[in-house]
Amino acid sequence: MRSISDPVLAIDIGGSKLSTGLVAADGTVLKKEIAAWDALDADSVMRTILAAARRMLEPGSGPTPAAVGVNIPGLADPERGIWIEAVFSGIRNVPIGTLLSEALGLPVRIDNDVNNCALAESRFGACRGTADFVWLTVSNGCGGAVFLDGHVYRGAFGSAGEFGHIRVEDEGGYRCGCGNDGCLEAQAAGPGLARRYREAGGARTDGRDATAREIAERARNGERLALEVYGREGYYLGKALAAVLNVLNPAKAVVGGGISAAFDLFEPEMVRTIERMTYREASRRVSVEKTGLGYDAALVGAATLALMRGNP
Ligand SMILES: [Zn+2]
Repeated sequence: MRSISDPVLAIDIGGSKLSTGLVAADGTVLKKEIAAWDALDADSVMRTILAAARRMLEPGSGPTPAAVGVNIPGLADPERGIWIEAVFSGIRNVPIGTLLSEALGLPVRIDNDVNNCALAESRFGACRGTADFVWLTVSNGCGGAVFLDGHVYRGAFGSAGEFGHIRVEDEGGYRCGCGNDGCLEAQAAGPGLARRYREAGGARTDGRDATAREIAERARNGERLALEVYGREGYYLGKALAAVLNVLNPAKAVVGGGISAAFDLFEPEMVRTIERMTYREASRRVSVEKTGLGYDAALVGAATLALMRGNP
């Protein structure tokens, strides 16, 4: 019988890369490896995941993990261990839980990556002891998770927390991957922010659009246009969060993903917008914070799921 203080194997399946790691019971990442995909069909993806997992389990590579936690990019069925759909390829209905468990000889748990980040936030981050909160991640896309009464809330069809498709721009909104216009994801994720900066006349970098991170640097150096673009970012985030806060009345809303590095730049306008658009009496004490998880949030998210085995 292995002890609950054993480390776990964390697998974070991303659209552009695969991260695997050994994570201790206190959330410390002991070892980490990044691998690129050979191809994006189900067989190649599973081969790459298994090879990376086996490297982590090689004798002499560290303590032997007791369980495996997996971040699924897209829709997952945690009960049956099935990866239902990937956002980055045609992968559908892969029984990844069974495949990994049989190949590695370890218990495997899977869930959507953003749900796992919320779980990690509740265990190791800014939401320890908080029973009701929402988690919004903004990087190349937008995702969200709803944590209610101490548990991830999934909704009737497994898609609760799709905050990225709340409409935040009515006039001339950008086309979203979902087919609608003006969604939070289209307006406020990295590509939308970069596009808005370019369209407003922002300087390009080496013949390409400046990235969200480069625009943040320019804002910190006092560039007016970059500051305005991040102000608008705060408005969009605030508008989407206000809708969520009005419905759920959580104690906290946590912002994670790459955009959280620029939290100070969009926070003032985000807070002003939330104050203008929420029912004041109910939302007065809601705190909107930057994620308390560090750079390895996704890996720690996958690990948290495995660490909570037997305690769903
Ligand atoms: Zn959308």
